[in-house]
Amino acid sequence: MSPNAESTAFRSALEVIRAVEPRVADAIGAELADQRESLKLIASENYASPATLLTMGNWFSDKYAEGTVGRRFYAGCQNVDTVEALAAEHARELFGATHAYVQPHSGIDANLVAFWAILADRVESPALKRAQARHVNDLTEADWFALRRELGDQRMLGMSLDAGGHLTHGFRPNISGKMFDQRSYGTDPATGLIDYDRVAEAAREFRPLILVAGYSAYPRKVNFRIMREIADSVGATFMVDMAHFAGLVAGKVFTGDFDPVPHAHIVTTTTHKSLRGPRGGMVLCGPELADQVDRGCPMVLGGPLPHVMAAKAVALAEARRPDFADYAQRIVDNAQALADGLLRRGATLVTGGTDNHLVLIDVSNYGLTGRQAEQALLDSGIVTNRNAVPQDPNGAWYTSGIRIGTPALTTRGLGTTEMDATAELIHTVLSQTTAGTGPDGAASKAKYVLDPAVAEQVGKQAADLLTPFPLYPTVDLA
Ligand SMILES: *Cc1c(COP(=O)(O)O)cnc(C)c1O
Repeated sequence: MSPNAESTAFRSALEVIRAVEPRVADAIGAELADQRESLKLIASENYASPATLLTMGNWFSDKYAEGTVGRRFYAGCQNVDTVEALAAEHARELFGATHAYVQPHSGIDANLVAFWAILADRVESPALKRAQARHVNDLTEADWFALRRELGDQRMLGMSLDAGGHLTHGFRPNISGKMFDQRSYGTDPATGLIDYDRVAEAAREFRPLILVAGYSAYPRKVNFRIMREIADSVGATFMVDMAHFAGLVAGKVFTGDFDPVPHAHIVTTTTHKSLRGPRGGMVLCGPELADQVDRGCPMVLGGPLPHVMAAKAVALAEARRPDFADYAQRIVDNAQALADGLLRRGATLVTGGTDNHLVLIDVSNYGLTGRQAEQALLDSGIVTNRNAVPQDPNGAWYTSGIRIGTPALTTRGLGTTEMDATAELIHTVLSQTTAGTGPDGAASKAKYVLDPAVAEQVGKQAADLLTPFPLYPTVDLA
């Protein structure tokens, strides 16, 4: 490929778009410029490859492809079949799974597919059998009424939100919380780690249909072998949502007890976080749940997005190359260098460090809320997000934590030296920021004071850190 092929592709695309709505073309160009300039530490974001991005902008977007490969409800899906089959094959090979369903549009959608596959398998199928019916349409009104009640009366045990769990694991604001009677397990207040004995105790008391593991803000590995034993001991289906750390599983940083695929009945993920693919989701499972999972569309999903499935095939092919394993290891090396750099400068970290891609800083030691810290860092050119810490006194809106992650900066090429420099910048901003006061002189959880000269100085240093590591170096829009 000529070094200019990617520049030419994106430039031509923008020219075509500009002829219709120049403001959109301008915004796309501005987004690249913004991403190039910011020190992005958002743990859930990454930079997909030019090949992955380009795969999404074409006529696959025009296709309806309800159904599964070779069994569509629409004619003319042979090329969609090709890319969906490829994406599924790459996913199975990459993760060592028997079955892969690549249609979910996002992580939330993948979880919904998994929940309903489990409900269909564990609740609906037995009810059909009892009624000697083959299809829900064959049930009497009374049996259907009873089944609907039963589907809505199941239990889920998942990780609590403030310990790092996800809203889609049975919390009330999400539909999963309205579907399931949910209890959660937290972490040990002393160590910040999952206490498996407590999880087992909660499972024995609550007897959930589904035990969920997975997180978006827990900086440690989870032992999925132990979690599976707990699930088995109470007859629960064990589901792992690896949305955040799928890239570390793909890159074989998480193996053995820490690889969810051999231990879970069903695994869900996003494809755009550490896995570095297009925005989307995926479900992996064994043969027992495969048929139910494949009913995801139209059960809970709208029609598949063939252009995104094609991009999943490209990104998963990239993740199967040996350099992806190097990338995954560098993500963790970088997170540990960042954690060490922060600890050495006196920061407090939840669990005292990390063994994955993310670090959770407890900013209360700096006298700040998460919201104040997040804004002060943003003023200084450092993009993070605030996040609750376990037993957070400031709740889910203001919070007491800052979550930072390394998948994006690692893609850019930054290494452990730059992570130490990043720790210095973060510590400088947080230690120089003070909590502000409201109009009545009372302490504010949102207002803060940071000398603009400090913010400017740090912003310059952050930009200097990025200069040797251009983002999308093969893409020149000028
Ligand atoms: C990000 C995330 C999701 C949701 O993914 P979307 O693609 O935004 O729907 C679900 N579960 C976990 C654990 C996540 O981190």
